[in-house]
Amino acid sequence: MHIAIYGSGQLARMMALAGWQYAWRFSFIADAGEDTRCVDGLGKVVTRNDQWSAEELYQQLDKPDVITVEKEMVDTTLLAELQSHCPVHPSPQAVYLCQNRRREKQFLRDLQLPTAPWQSATSIIEIEHAAKALGYPFIIKTDEAGYDGKNQWRINQREDLVRFMEHYQDIELTIEGFVSFQREVSLIAARSTTGEKVFYPLTENHHVNGILQTCVAPAPDTGQPLQAQAQAMIEKLLDHLDYVGVLSMECFVTEQGLLINELAPRVHNSGHWTQRLPGASQFENHIRAISGLSLGSTGLDGCYGMINILNPLDEKTVAPFFGPHSEVHHYDKAPREWRKLGHINLQYADHTTLIEAMDKGLSAVYPEPDNEAASSRR
Ligand code: AMP
Repeated sequence: MHIAIYGSGQLARMMALAGWQYAWRFSFIADAGEDTRCVDGLGKVVTRNDQWSAEELYQQLDKPDVITVEKEMVDTTLLAELQSHCPVHPSPQAVYLCQNRRREKQFLRDLQLPTAPWQSATSIIEIEHAAKALGYPFIIKTDEAGYDGKNQWRINQREDLVRFMEHYQDIELTIEGFVSFQREVSLIAARSTTGEKVFYPLTENHHVNGILQTCVAPAPDTGQPLQAQAQAMIEKLLDHLDYVGVLSMECFVTEQGLLINELAPRVHNSGHWTQRLPGASQFENHIRAISGLSLGSTGLDGCYGMINILNPLDEKTVAPFFGPHSEVHHYDKAPREWRKLGHINLQYADHTTLIEAMDKGLSAVYPEPDNEAASSRR
């Protein structure tokens, strides 16, 4: 089996590492100028040339058996054309939906799946209209190029809106009512080519500066009803899209239940802890799903945590994490502030010991007392 992955970052790296155990081959499609260090040595990297046809790209990749993606921002027209050479999973249509907030939100609305109240806007008049309908505070997000909290603004009062509109230039926006959520969780599920589905438990996520910093799974104090609600929601999405691969769903937990914030048609940072499962990680299940294999177990052996490494760490700091309860993953990326450079997975018998270890881990990874990252969970 030869799998080509569109993208060459850490998610591509971890998917390839999961597939290597089956002795499968990988190749990677990189956009011009993309840093491909994460996948060095894991397969052929083909830098896209806009002049190539889909057929030429397929030949350059050495004719893969299946093509998948590690990110949303890919050329979905090209993906659709590649479908005449080999299967593309998830479908270009599913990726296209998730590339744009407005499309995604409308899709969720059509399926009657709950989200924050929202309106779209492409002019000052429409922004004013949304402000009136939603009330303060609200959040303005660009429909595209928004990730890790980028390209979004919290508008608390009229003055904030006036300031925003002074610089506004006809970009397509989604405007969301502010949700006073209790916490943020995500659900990761996989669906195979035969329609078989598996679900991981809800994971609780903490962000700093809009970037995911830590995860705990299963999300503490989450009753079966919340897990069941999340599974029913993602199952509806998977079946409706005839989806193949891993789909990730980020949600707000509110008094009324779950609201979907965002979908990702791929493996997700909040599922990295699954690498410690006795069965199959999200990466392995994605690879299995798109290759036509049956899916691996998502059963747990205790409680799991993940700490993102968002700044360069010296060997002394990470050394204690190479132990029976934890492991370190490095992506070999050039260091840059707030860049995801690696992560630490932890596993303990119960939440109490896990959270204690995570708090200690956070103090080691983010030692500065005035560091916002360090203080968020403590
Ligand atoms: P997003 O880019 O949509 O994932 O948003 C990044 C973060 O902003 C989320 O993880 C939330 O912490 C926060 N956020 C986004 N949308 C809302 C909302 N409608 N109400 C409250 N907080 C939000």
